[in-house]
Amino acid sequence: MELGIGGRRAIVCAASKGLGRACALALAEAGVALTICARGAEALEATAAEIRARTGVPVTAIACDVTTEEGRRLLLEACPEPDILINNAGGPPPGDFRDFSLDDWRRAVEANMLTPIALVRATVYGMMERGFGRIVNITSASVKAPIPMLELSNGARAGLTGAMATIARKAVRRNVTINALLPGPFDTDRLRSTLRAQAEREGRDPAAVAAERAAANPAGRFGDPAEFGALCAFLCSAQAGYITGQNILIDGGAYPGTL
Ligand code: NAP
Repeated sequence: MELGIGGRRAIVCAASKGLGRACALALAEAGVALTICARGAEALEATAAEIRARTGVPVTAIACDVTTEEGRRLLLEACPEPDILINNAGGPPPGDFRDFSLDDWRRAVEANMLTPIALVRATVYGMMERGFGRIVNITSASVKAPIPMLELSNGARAGLTGAMATIARKAVRRNVTINALLPGPFDTDRLRSTLRAQAEREGRDPAAVAAERAAANPAGRFGDPAEFGALCAFLCSAQAGYITGQNILIDGGAYPGTL
Protein backbone atom coordinates (compact mmCIF):
# COMPACT_ATOMS: atom_id res chain seq x y z
CA MET A 1 0.00 0.00 0.00
CA GLU A 2 1.34 3.43 -0.97
CA LEU A 3 1.13 5.55 2.19
CA GLY A 4 1.31 8.94 0.47
CA ILE A 5 3.97 10.38 2.80
CA GLY A 6 7.08 10.14 0.62
CA GLY A 7 9.21 13.28 1.09
CA ARG A 8 7.63 14.14 4.45
CA ARG A 9 9.86 14.79 7.50
CA ALA A 10 9.61 12.89 10.78
CA ILE A 11 11.11 13.14 14.23
CA VAL A 12 11.27 9.68 15.79
CA CYS A 13 12.31 9.76 19.45
CA ALA A 14 14.21 6.98 21.19
CA ALA A 15 14.83 5.17 17.94
CA SER A 16 18.18 3.36 18.03
CA LYS A 17 16.51 0.13 19.17
CA GLY A 18 13.23 -1.62 19.73
CA LEU A 19 9.86 -0.07 18.92
CA GLY A 20 11.22 3.39 18.07
CA ARG A 21 13.70 1.90 15.62
CA ALA A 22 10.93 -0.17 14.01
CA CYS A 23 8.77 2.94 13.55
CA ALA A 24 11.71 4.83 12.04
CA LEU A 25 12.43 2.02 9.59
CA ALA A 26 8.79 1.67 8.53
CA LEU A 27 8.51 5.42 7.92
CA ALA A 28 11.80 5.41 5.98
CA GLU A 29 10.45 2.57 3.84
CA ALA A 30 7.53 4.90 3.01
CA GLY A 31 10.04 7.53 1.86
CA VAL A 32 9.99 9.76 4.96
CA ALA A 33 13.17 11.71 5.83
CA LEU A 34 14.10 11.08 9.45
CA THR A 35 15.55 12.82 12.45
CA ILE A 36 16.09 10.16 15.11
CA CYS A 37 17.50 10.27 18.61
CA ALA A 38 18.77 8.11 21.44
CA ARG A 39 21.29 8.71 24.23
CA GLY A 40 23.90 6.18 23.11
CA ALA A 41 25.63 7.60 20.02
CA GLU A 42 27.14 4.33 18.80
CA ALA A 43 23.90 2.33 18.49
CA LEU A 44 22.14 5.42 17.13
CA GLU A 45 24.71 5.95 14.36
CA ALA A 46 24.57 2.23 13.50
CA THR A 47 20.76 2.38 13.18
CA ALA A 48 20.93 5.57 11.12
CA ALA A 49 23.49 4.00 8.78
CA GLU A 50 21.42 0.84 8.40
CA ILE A 51 18.21 2.78 7.62
CA ARG A 52 20.05 4.95 5.06
CA ALA A 53 21.52 1.86 3.40
CA ARG A 54 18.20 0.00 3.32
CA THR A 55 15.93 2.83 2.20
CA GLY A 56 18.06 5.65 0.76
CA VAL A 57 16.24 8.33 2.78
CA PRO A 58 18.17 11.07 4.63
CA VAL A 59 18.56 10.21 8.32
CA THR A 60 19.86 12.77 10.82
CA ALA A 61 20.98 11.21 14.10
CA ILE A 62 20.94 13.36 17.23
CA ALA A 63 22.55 11.75 20.28
CA CYS A 64 20.56 13.25 23.16
CA ASP A 65 18.32 12.52 26.09
CA VAL A 66 14.83 13.42 24.88
CA THR A 67 13.58 13.77 28.46
CA THR A 68 15.71 16.91 28.91
CA GLU A 69 14.95 20.38 27.59
CA GLU A 70 18.37 20.48 25.95
CA GLY A 71 17.74 17.16 24.20
CA ARG A 72 14.42 18.36 22.82
CA ARG A 73 16.00 21.66 21.74
CA LEU A 74 18.65 19.78 19.73
CA LEU A 75 16.00 17.59 18.10
CA LEU A 76 13.81 20.53 17.09
CA GLU A 77 16.84 22.47 15.85
CA ALA A 78 17.66 19.53 13.55
CA CYS A 79 14.04 19.25 12.34
CA PRO A 80 12.14 22.48 13.11
CA GLU A 81 9.09 21.69 10.96
CA PRO A 82 8.31 18.00 11.24
CA ASP A 83 5.26 16.58 9.47
CA ILE A 84 5.34 13.50 11.69
CA LEU A 85 6.30 13.12 15.35
CA ILE A 86 6.74 9.79 17.07
CA ASN A 87 7.01 10.28 20.83
CA ASN A 88 8.92 7.58 22.66
CA ALA A 89 11.37 7.20 25.55
CA GLY A 90 12.50 4.48 27.89
CA GLY A 91 9.90 3.30 30.38
CA PRO A 92 10.17 3.91 34.14
CA PRO A 93 11.63 1.12 36.28
CA PRO A 94 9.42 -1.48 37.98
CA GLY A 95 9.18 -1.63 41.77
CA ASP A 96 6.96 -1.71 44.80
CA PHE A 97 4.59 1.24 45.27
CA ARG A 98 5.87 1.65 48.85
CA ASP A 99 9.43 2.16 47.60
CA PHE A 100 8.71 4.80 44.95
CA SER A 101 9.80 8.24 46.19
CA LEU A 102 8.22 11.46 44.97
CA ASP A 103 11.37 11.99 42.93
CA ASP A 104 10.77 8.64 41.20
CA TRP A 105 7.27 9.84 40.35
CA ARG A 106 8.61 13.19 39.11
CA ARG A 107 11.11 11.42 36.83
CA ALA A 108 8.40 9.15 35.41
CA VAL A 109 6.04 12.07 34.78
CA GLU A 110 8.89 14.08 33.21
CA ALA A 111 9.91 11.26 30.85
CA ASN A 112 6.61 9.68 29.91
CA MET A 113 4.12 12.52 30.23
CA LEU A 114 5.75 15.98 30.11
CA THR A 115 8.35 15.12 27.44
CA PRO A 116 5.79 14.05 24.83
CA ILE A 117 3.51 16.95 25.82
CA ALA A 118 6.41 19.39 25.29
CA LEU A 119 7.14 17.99 21.82
CA VAL A 120 3.48 18.01 20.83
CA ARG A 121 3.17 21.62 21.97
CA ALA A 122 6.28 22.58 20.01
CA THR A 123 5.13 20.96 16.76
CA VAL A 124 1.36 20.63 16.53
CA TYR A 125 0.54 24.28 15.73
CA GLY A 126 3.03 24.40 12.85
CA MET A 127 1.54 21.18 11.51
CA MET A 128 -1.94 22.73 11.73
CA GLU A 129 -0.78 25.82 9.85
CA ARG A 130 0.75 23.66 7.12
CA GLY A 131 -2.38 21.46 6.92
CA PHE A 132 -0.77 18.10 7.58
CA GLY A 133 0.54 16.35 10.67
CA ARG A 134 0.65 12.92 12.24
CA ILE A 135 1.61 12.43 15.88
CA VAL A 136 1.91 9.00 17.45
CA ASN A 137 2.66 8.57 21.14
CA ILE A 138 4.11 5.21 22.08
CA THR A 139 2.56 4.43 25.46
CA SER A 140 1.72 0.96 26.79
CA ALA A 141 -1.02 -1.61 27.17
CA SER A 142 -0.81 -0.59 30.84
CA VAL A 143 -2.96 2.44 29.95
CA LYS A 144 -5.91 0.05 29.40
CA ALA A 145 -5.05 -2.52 32.07
CA PRO A 146 -2.59 -1.49 34.78
CA ILE A 147 0.46 -3.72 35.21
CA PRO A 148 1.54 -4.60 38.78
CA MET A 149 4.99 -3.25 39.72
CA LEU A 150 4.78 -0.69 36.89
CA GLU A 151 2.76 1.94 38.75
CA LEU A 152 5.15 4.69 37.62
CA SER A 153 4.42 3.79 34.00
CA ASN A 154 0.68 3.18 34.57
CA GLY A 155 0.29 6.64 36.11
CA ALA A 156 2.47 8.79 33.85
CA ARG A 157 1.15 7.26 30.64
CA ALA A 158 -2.48 7.57 31.74
CA GLY A 159 -1.77 11.28 32.38
CA LEU A 160 -0.41 11.69 28.85
CA THR A 161 -3.45 9.90 27.44
CA GLY A 162 -5.82 12.31 29.16
CA ALA A 163 -3.75 15.32 28.11
CA MET A 164 -3.97 14.38 24.41
CA ALA A 165 -7.69 13.68 24.29
CA THR A 166 -8.93 17.17 23.45
CA ILE A 167 -6.03 18.60 21.39
CA ALA A 168 -6.35 15.50 19.18
CA ARG A 169 -9.92 16.55 18.41
CA LYS A 170 -9.00 20.18 17.75
CA ALA A 171 -6.04 19.44 15.49
CA VAL A 172 -7.86 17.00 13.23
CA ARG A 173 -9.81 19.85 11.63
CA ARG A 174 -6.47 20.91 10.09
CA ASN A 175 -5.55 17.36 9.03
CA VAL A 176 -3.33 16.80 12.06
CA THR A 177 -4.00 13.60 14.00
CA ILE A 178 -2.77 12.52 17.41
CA ASN A 179 -3.04 8.88 18.43
CA ALA A 180 -1.33 6.51 20.81
CA LEU A 181 -0.08 3.01 20.19
CA LEU A 182 -0.32 0.73 23.21
CA PRO A 183 2.17 -2.12 22.91
CA GLY A 184 1.74 -5.41 24.72
CA PRO A 185 4.84 -7.62 24.95
CA PHE A 186 7.18 -7.00 22.00
CA ASP A 187 10.46 -8.77 21.50
CA THR A 188 12.86 -5.92 22.26
CA ASP A 189 15.87 -5.35 24.52
CA ARG A 190 13.57 -3.90 27.18
CA LEU A 191 11.35 -6.98 27.26
CA ARG A 192 14.39 -9.29 27.31
CA SER A 193 15.94 -7.41 30.25
CA THR A 194 12.61 -7.51 32.17
CA LEU A 195 12.43 -11.26 31.59
CA ARG A 196 16.06 -11.72 32.72
CA ALA A 197 15.32 -9.76 35.91
CA GLN A 198 12.24 -11.92 36.57
CA ALA A 199 14.27 -15.11 35.97
CA GLU A 200 16.93 -13.89 38.40
CA ARG A 201 14.34 -13.07 41.08
CA GLU A 202 12.73 -16.46 40.72
CA GLY A 203 16.01 -18.36 40.29
CA ARG A 204 14.87 -19.74 36.93
CA ASP A 205 16.22 -20.14 33.41
CA PRO A 206 15.55 -16.91 31.40
CA ALA A 207 14.63 -18.95 28.30
CA ALA A 208 11.99 -20.85 30.28
CA VAL A 209 10.53 -17.61 31.68
CA ALA A 210 10.43 -16.10 28.17
CA ALA A 211 8.76 -19.21 26.70
CA GLU A 212 6.16 -19.21 29.47
CA ARG A 213 5.35 -15.50 28.96
CA ALA A 214 5.14 -15.90 25.18
CA ALA A 215 2.85 -18.93 25.51
CA ALA A 216 0.56 -16.99 27.87
CA ASN A 217 -0.23 -14.47 25.11
CA PRO A 218 -3.27 -15.43 22.99
CA ALA A 219 -1.01 -15.24 19.92
CA GLY A 220 1.40 -17.69 21.59
CA ARG A 221 4.33 -15.37 20.94
CA PHE A 222 5.77 -11.92 21.50
CA GLY A 223 5.11 -9.17 18.99
CA ASP A 224 7.65 -8.51 16.24
CA PRO A 225 8.75 -4.82 16.34
CA ALA A 226 8.25 -4.73 12.54
CA GLU A 227 4.51 -5.33 13.14
CA PHE A 228 4.48 -2.32 15.45
CA GLY A 229 6.39 -0.17 12.95
CA ALA A 230 3.95 -1.05 10.15
CA LEU A 231 0.94 0.05 12.23
CA CYS A 232 2.73 3.25 13.20
CA ALA A 233 3.51 4.02 9.55
CA PHE A 234 -0.15 3.47 8.62
CA LEU A 235 -1.28 5.89 11.36
CA CYS A 236 1.11 8.42 9.79
CA SER A 237 -0.20 7.82 6.28
CA ALA A 238 -2.21 10.20 4.13
CA GLN A 239 -5.10 7.72 4.37
CA ALA A 240 -5.25 7.86 8.20
CA GLY A 241 -6.50 11.46 8.43
CA TYR A 242 -9.85 10.40 9.94
CA ILE A 243 -8.28 8.51 12.89
CA THR A 244 -7.52 10.74 15.85
CA GLY A 245 -7.65 10.66 19.63
CA GLN A 246 -7.43 6.88 19.59
CA ASN A 247 -5.48 4.56 21.86
CA ILE A 248 -4.79 1.49 19.81
CA LEU A 249 -3.73 -1.76 21.46
CA ILE A 250 -1.30 -4.00 19.65
CA ASP A 251 -0.87 -6.90 22.03
CA GLY A 252 -1.73 -10.21 20.37
CA GLY A 253 -5.15 -10.09 22.06
CA ALA A 254 -3.74 -10.04 25.61
CA TYR A 255 -6.19 -7.39 26.85
CA PRO A 256 -9.11 -9.49 28.08
CA GLY A 257 -11.99 -7.01 27.53
CA THR A 258 -14.66 -7.39 24.83
CA LEU A 259 -14.16 -3.74 23.82
P1 NAP B 1 14.20 -0.71 24.07
O1 NAP B 1 14.28 -1.88 23.18
O2 NAP B 1 14.93 -0.74 25.37
O3 NAP B 1 14.64 0.58 23.24
C1 NAP B 1 14.57 1.84 23.84
C2 NAP B 1 15.12 2.88 22.88
O4 NAP B 1 14.88 4.15 23.45
C3 NAP B 1 16.63 2.78 22.70
O5 NAP B 1 16.93 3.22 21.40
C4 NAP B 1 17.15 3.75 23.74
O6 NAP B 1 18.47 4.19 23.41
C5 NAP B 1 16.12 4.87 23.60
N1 NAP B 1 15.97 5.71 24.79
C6 NAP B 1 15.67 5.31 26.04
N2 NAP B 1 15.60 6.37 26.86
C7 NAP B 1 15.88 7.46 26.09
C8 NAP B 1 15.98 8.85 26.38
N3 NAP B 1 15.79 9.33 27.63
N4 NAP B 1 16.28 9.71 25.37
C9 NAP B 1 16.48 9.25 24.12
N5 NAP B 1 16.39 7.93 23.80
C10 NAP B 1 16.10 7.05 24.78
O7 NAP B 1 12.67 -0.40 24.50
P2 NAP B 1 11.31 -0.74 23.73
O8 NAP B 1 10.88 -2.11 24.12
O9 NAP B 1 11.41 -0.37 22.30
O10 NAP B 1 10.29 0.24 24.49
C11 NAP B 1 9.98 1.53 24.00
C12 NAP B 1 8.88 2.11 24.89
O11 NAP B 1 7.72 1.27 24.82
C13 NAP B 1 9.27 2.16 26.37
O12 NAP B 1 8.73 3.31 26.97
C14 NAP B 1 8.61 0.93 26.94
O13 NAP B 1 8.34 1.07 28.33
C15 NAP B 1 7.34 0.87 26.11
N6 NAP B 1 6.77 -0.47 26.09
C16 NAP B 1 7.47 -1.51 25.57
C17 NAP B 1 6.89 -2.78 25.59
C18 NAP B 1 7.64 -3.99 25.04
O14 NAP B 1 7.17 -5.10 25.21
N7 NAP B 1 8.75 -3.85 24.38
C19 NAP B 1 5.62 -2.96 26.13
C20 NAP B 1 4.93 -1.87 26.64
C21 NAP B 1 5.52 -0.61 26.62
P3 NAP B 1 19.48 4.75 24.56
O15 NAP B 1 19.33 3.82 25.73
O16 NAP B 1 20.82 4.74 23.93
O17 NAP B 1 18.99 6.14 24.88
